[in-house]
Amino acid sequence: MMEMLEAITEGKGKEEDIDKLYRLGEMIKRHPSAPGSDRPEPRSSTIRYFRDEYVAHITEKKCPSKVCKPLITFRVDEEKCNGCQACRLKCPVEAIEGSKKETHKVIQEKCIKCGTCYEACRFDAILVE
Ligand code: SF4
Ligand code: SF4
Repeated sequence: MMEMLEAITEGKGKEEDIDKLYRLGEMIKRHPSAPGSDRPEPRSSTIRYFRDEYVAHITEKKCPSKVCKPLITFRVDEEKCNGCQACRLKCPVEAIEGSKKETHKVIQEKCIKCGTCYEACRFDAILVE
């Protein structure tokens, strides 16, 4: 189950994994001595209530909740960026380039998706997609 869940969060899941996970969760619930039987319910219930989220991870390679790092991208909104440089100065890996008062840009190859720029920007100019 863990391997399937990890694959899904990395955009490598398969559609059939959703039903497999659900069935495994339900099966474990019925066998209290099985490994993992201490917490099977959250897995079954997340599939029951948030199936769309699982599907989005698998078919669109998107994390609607913007939590799974492999599936999200940080980008600067060119319309809103005023070049204040707050994001660039706080980025821990120098993944943002741009001069003062000019539109900045995230260098995707360097970005470790820490979210610091999103927190730093006071102009809602960092998009998480
Ligand atoms: S903090 Fe926001 S407004 Fe300032 S440079 Fe970065 S993206 Fe642009
Ligand atoms: S998410 Fe983190 S690493 Fe990526 S550009 Fe923003 S501050 Fe830099």
